[in-house]
Amino acid sequence: INPTTPRTITLLGATGSIGHSTLDVIAQHPQRYRVHGLSAYRRLDALLSLCQQFQPAQVAVPAESVDRFAQQLAQAGLAHIEVLGGESGLRELATAPEADTLVAAIVGAAGLMPTLAAVQAGKRVLLANKEALVMSGALFMQAVADHDAELLPVDSEHNAIFQSLPESYTSLTASGVDKILLTASGGPFRGRSAESLQEVTPEQAIAHPNWSMGQKISVDSATLMNKGLELIEACWLFHATPADIDVIVHPQSVIHSMVRYADGSVLAQLGVPDMRTPIAHALAWPERIRSGVQPLDFMTLGQLTFEAPDHTAFPCLQLAEQAFAAGGTAPAVLNAANEVAVDAFLKRQIRFDQIAQVIDHTLQQRAPKSANQLDEILSEDRLAREQAQAYIATRTIAATT
Ligand code: NAD
Ligand code: MG
Repeated sequence: INPTTPRTITLLGATGSIGHSTLDVIAQHPQRYRVHGLSAYRRLDALLSLCQQFQPAQVAVPAESVDRFAQQLAQAGLAHIEVLGGESGLRELATAPEADTLVAAIVGAAGLMPTLAAVQAGKRVLLANKEALVMSGALFMQAVADHDAELLPVDSEHNAIFQSLPESYTSLTASGVDKILLTASGGPFRGRSAESLQEVTPEQAIAHPNWSMGQKISVDSATLMNKGLELIEACWLFHATPADIDVIVHPQSVIHSMVRYADGSVLAQLGVPDMRTPIAHALAWPERIRSGVQPLDFMTLGQLTFEAPDHTAFPCLQLAEQAFAAGGTAPAVLNAANEVAVDAFLKRQIRFDQIAQVIDHTLQQRAPKSANQLDEILSEDRLAREQAQAYIATRTIAATT
């Protein structure tokens, strides 16, 4: 792409944490990037100010909010912005021919349909929405190949792995890769015993030591399910199996992941933990642009430490590995049960340690089916949610005070 022709960006999940970081980078490079479309789900007041600042041509909001939001735009002198609604609106926005790049930053299963639609439209897709890939890995990667889409990982670990692999990468063996070393912060409860985790509150769980993120991924980081989802994400992105990947707890989150080659060389990507780095990398790839992130200062860094994950206190990582091995719709079931369980935990309906129990129970209830079609995956997602809800309803859980 000619640097004088700006890339046109559609950002799904504009009001979230990744959305915020993405627009921060875009605002630093107005000559390089133009915002074509934005989507938001709840915080439509925030979307309105983003419309004022970035002047998109189209936005997508929930179907029931279309009229009200169009009125608010008109009152703000922004009647020229087209308001799309509901799932079909998200799909239309994600595939709009005016945009060449989609940033997929919706959280959870809700992001799958529009992200896959953008892939099928052959766009450059910057993937933050890891749940979409976990749910539909085989279908998603096949669509990337069939439609010549360009898939670039925004998740910091996967972006680090991508940066540590050769540009000509096709497979681990062809590139002489021995292992992918996926780093994990360990979350806010690293080092705690399984018993002591029965007491922890949503407030403690979402207070991540290194990263500021949305609520759902913050809880996932605390249970290590985030690393489980990322293990599956890495398997699909890099044509690997869990045996090719070692998870290493690295509490400082300075090394964002590594690749170890056959000759013993280990290549890593390091930086200050700030999502603007992987976002800027993926936006500009294969070029480099400024992200606004502070340089890493080794003189003040102190120590970088490493340890093994504790699978007893944090069973979710192994549940994810099992679901990937089971194949078919099992990762979609894992993801659905996790979304329901995290939501119930945030509403104080279940304890922290019961998140893994809900997922384990739901996985056992649902034998994996074929996941070749989006319909099959979405229907399994729905059934798994119902089953997880039903299981939660049978638990009599003392609410944490
Ligand atoms: P967030 O909760 O801050 O934002 C989520 C966004 O999705 C919001 O804009 C919200 O309006 C939208 N949304 C929520 N539910 C929706 C629905 N049903 N339909 C349409 N839109 C909906 O989340 P986040 O932390 O920005 O994370 C977004 C994605 O990026 C997640 O998949 C997460 O795993 C991934 N990710 C985030 C980080 C991070 O640092 N925050 C890092 C790596 C990966
Ligand atoms: Mg990550």
